[in-house]
Amino acid sequence: MFGTGGKQKPCRAAAACAAEHAAEAGVEAEEIEGLDTLRFSCWLLPMDRYERVVLYMYKSSGLLDRFQIPDDMCRRFITRAHNGYRNNPYHNWRHAFDVSQMAYCITRQTTLGQNLKPLELYALMLTALCHDIDHGGKTNDFLVDTGSPIALLYNLKSVNENHHCTYTFKLLSDDSTNMLHALTLEQKKAVRKTMIACFKATDMTFHFEIVNQYKSKLKDGEAFVPDSPEDTQLMLNLMMHAADLSNPVRDYENAKQWAAAVNEEWWLQGDMEARMSLPVGGMNKRPEPDGTDQQIAGTQLGFGDFVVGPMFEALAQGMDGPSGLFQSCVD
Ligand code: AMP
Ligand code: ZN
Repeated sequence: MFGTGGKQKPCRAAAACAAEHAAEAGVEAEEIEGLDTLRFSCWLLPMDRYERVVLYMYKSSGLLDRFQIPDDMCRRFITRAHNGYRNNPYHNWRHAFDVSQMAYCITRQTTLGQNLKPLELYALMLTALCHDIDHGGKTNDFLVDTGSPIALLYNLKSVNENHHCTYTFKLLSDDSTNMLHALTLEQKKAVRKTMIACFKATDMTFHFEIVNQYKSKLKDGEAFVPDSPEDTQLMLNLMMHAADLSNPVRDYENAKQWAAAVNEEWWLQGDMEARMSLPVGGMNKRPEPDGTDQQIAGTQLGFGDFVVGPMFEALAQGMDGPSGLFQSCVD
C-alpha cells in the first residue's frame, strides 16, 4: 500500500536468526518459547522482562534493520511507551505487551500477516504497543458525559483512541525516540495515516462496521487485493482489533485474569460515577462479594458469544494460514 519496500525479507536461517536476536535483545530462549502462538501467556513472564521481549519482537520481525533503528533508540522508545501506561487494572503495560504479542502471532501465523509490506507491519506493531498509552481507566462514554478536557479536545469522538494516537506521535517526534527517522516524507505520511486508522479501529464503536465490511467481502467472494489501500487497511484494522480483543481465546487461567481485570476497572469507574452522583451503568455496578464470579462470567459469555466469537469465526474463514490460528481460537 505504500508503494515502496516490497515484501518482508526472509531470514537467513530461522533458528540462527532467532538465537542472534534473542542474544541482542537480552532474552533467554525459555522466555520467548511459543511467543508467536496463542499459548504464550504474559502472566507467566515477569513484567520486568517485557521490554526486552518487545525488543526481540521488533528485531525478529526485521523492523529495526529495515528502518535503520539502532538498538538503543528502540530500547528508549519501548521504555518510554512503558512509562506512558498508567497503573490501571486492565489498560496497563501488561495489556500493551499482551496485545503486541498477539499482533506478533497474527502477523507470523496468517498468510495475510506474512505478506504485509514492511511499513504496514511496522505501523501495526507500533500501534499495538502504544494503542492504549496514557489510558485513564475511563470509557469514552464517561469522558464525554463528564465533559473531560480530552473529550472536548477531540470533539467527543473516539476520545481515548485519539489521545493514545496523539501521545504516540509526540513520542515519535522526539529525536531520541523517533522510530520513523529514516523514512522519506511520503513514507512518514503513509505510516501515520495507517497508524491513525489502526488506533481508531480499537474503538469498540466501530466493531460491527469493521467486521461487517469484512464479512460482506467474504460473502461476495471478493478476494483480498494486496495492492488496494482500502483492502490492506481493512485487514490491518482487523488484525489490530483482533489482537486487542483476544483475551477470551487465551487459555482459561490467562483469560480469567483478564476478565477480572477488565471488570475491576469498570467497577472503579462505577465507584467514581456514584461519588459524582452520576447514573452507574449495569457493568459498572460493583457486585456483592458473593456475586462477583457470576457477574464476571456474565460479561464473558456476552463478550464471547456476540463480539469475539463471530469475529474470530469470520477471520478463520478469510485470514487463516496453514496453522489455522483463528480456527483454533473458535474450536
Ligand atoms: P481497548 O479499550 O482498546 O482495550 O478496547 C477493547 C475493549 O474491549 C475494552 O475496553 C473492553 O470494553 C472490551 N474488552 C476487552 N477484553 C474484554 C473482556 N475479556 N471482557 C469484556 N470486555 C472486554
Ligand atoms: Zn486495548
